[in-house]
Amino acid sequence: MEKLNNSIDRSWIDELDKPLIISGPCSAESEQQILETANRLNPSYVKIFRAGIWKPRTKPNNFEGIGKKGLEWLRKVKKNMNFLTATEVANEEHVKLAISFEVDVLWIGARSTASPFTIQKIADALEGENNKIILVKNPIHPDIELWIGALERFVNKGIRKLGVIHRGFYTYKNSKYRNQPNWNLLFNFRDILPRIPIICDPSHICGNKKGIFDIAKKAYHFQYEGLMIESHCDPDHAWSDSKQQITPENLVKMLKELTYVRKCDQKNQKDLDSFRIIIDEIDENIIALLAERMNISKELGSWKKSTDVAVFQPNRWENIMEKSIVLGKSLGISEELLEGIFKLLHQESIKIQNQIR
Ligand code: PEP
Ligand code: MN
Repeated sequence: MEKLNNSIDRSWIDELDKPLIISGPCSAESEQQILETANRLNPSYVKIFRAGIWKPRTKPNNFEGIGKKGLEWLRKVKKNMNFLTATEVANEEHVKLAISFEVDVLWIGARSTASPFTIQKIADALEGENNKIILVKNPIHPDIELWIGALERFVNKGIRKLGVIHRGFYTYKNSKYRNQPNWNLLFNFRDILPRIPIICDPSHICGNKKGIFDIAKKAYHFQYEGLMIESHCDPDHAWSDSKQQITPENLVKMLKELTYVRKCDQKNQKDLDSFRIIIDEIDENIIALLAERMNISKELGSWKKSTDVAVFQPNRWENIMEKSIVLGKSLGISEELLEGIFKLLHQESIKIQNQIR
């Protein structure tokens, strides 16, 4: 891993103001929308202007991006305003076009990072383009190796100006996030590759406007090197991700507040907060899982009622206890703690199921 770490060229971000702010709309929609959004973004805060030209959508028949003509608008932003430009590429054709329109930063979307075939093709298309900055979003599921594998594929093709973006992970659980952040995983990621710049994308983590500030604040606590936040001249009428986009003015307001918060951070307080953020994250996950367990327990209660099966099944209970203690031991959890927790869980399940009866 040391070889990969040493291959990373950080000069591109070290030359820019930090934290690096990347902003602009989820998607390019019209020339007017691109130019107005860029005009209203303040280049003393925002260094890189983003806009999606090709959009990966979950289902067909949604707006799938404006395509090539949007690259002309991005080129105008680059030539006439004080921004570098960025867009997402997902295949060789995108790479070729983005390069021909002199886009400075290409990012790899979460769905692409999850596919080694796709990444290999993009990396092949980039061979020889050693000056391009490539930002690799985390794969949709929390697999560090897959993420690192994508970086290796780029380095193998001579691409060294790299960075990564934490945009959260798909979760099957109920969650207040569109994509669950995983600060702990990112902590490990930084241990493995300490040289790579990490940027946070609160917009795709939250999926709404109101959570963005809190996520950005956490990213600053963890000393991420930048933020990618979606902004739009008319967020409510955006053609994609309208719920999470904010106006350029609100972005600057938020960035000013964040600068203030950063100044107030003391070193020790920062370390303490980092641990607390990770513990809070784990607690949130535990609560979501408990809720899921209780819901299943309710469903089981109804089933037992309809089939007239007894609520308390001693064999099943002993079995759960035994299995949990063995698993817990292998993970270094004391028997006493597990026994206590599982007794409470079991009592609660029985209570719920008896109420149904
Ligand atoms: C985006 O940045 O607009 C985007 C589609 O992101 P992600 O790949 O994180 O979903
Ligand atoms: Mn988006």
